[in-house]
Amino acid sequence: MNCPSCSKKINPKAIRCPYCKALLVSKEKFSSVVKKRKEKSLEREKKEFIKSGRNTLLIVGGLNVIPLFIYLSHGDNLSAIIEGTIAGMFLGLGLLATRVPYAALLSGIILYILLTGLSAVADPESIINGLIIKIIVIYYLFKGMRAANKFKKKYKNIDILDAA
Ligand SMILES: [Zn+2]
Repeated sequence: MNCPSCSKKINPKAIRCPYCKALLVSKEKFSSVVKKRKEKSLEREKKEFIKSGRNTLLIVGGLNVIPLFIYLSHGDNLSAIIEGTIAGMFLGLGLLATRVPYAALLSGIILYILLTGLSAVADPESIINGLIIKIIVIYYLFKGMRAANKFKKKYKNIDILDAA
């Protein structure tokens, strides 16, 4: 296909000539395509922003699935229920993080610190157990929350519907 304006060879799917910048579709169509592309790239960027926090939530949830099965195999149903609830809450927050990243990560941090504190009260030695893992988890949860917050601030004032 050749551009009707400058006659140069162009991609038949092009909506604007890359050489002379002439529109090859109606103004409305051009606007709607540009809008869709902007929304898509914004969505991709958002996913990158929230990926680390969401993955941390899912990993914390996943880590609690392992003791769930150990307790179940020992017939310790109460501990299994507690572990199962914790695993479920973190996995749920991980899924929620795609839609409301900041709120999900903040809830995850509060929940994690609360649970660590509770188990430290119940068994003071537990705070030493896996201390490095706890620090790493909290670090990543905070990192995820900061990224989500940054994204929120960055795009708060941009009207993505206002395309080219
Ligand atoms: Zn052209």
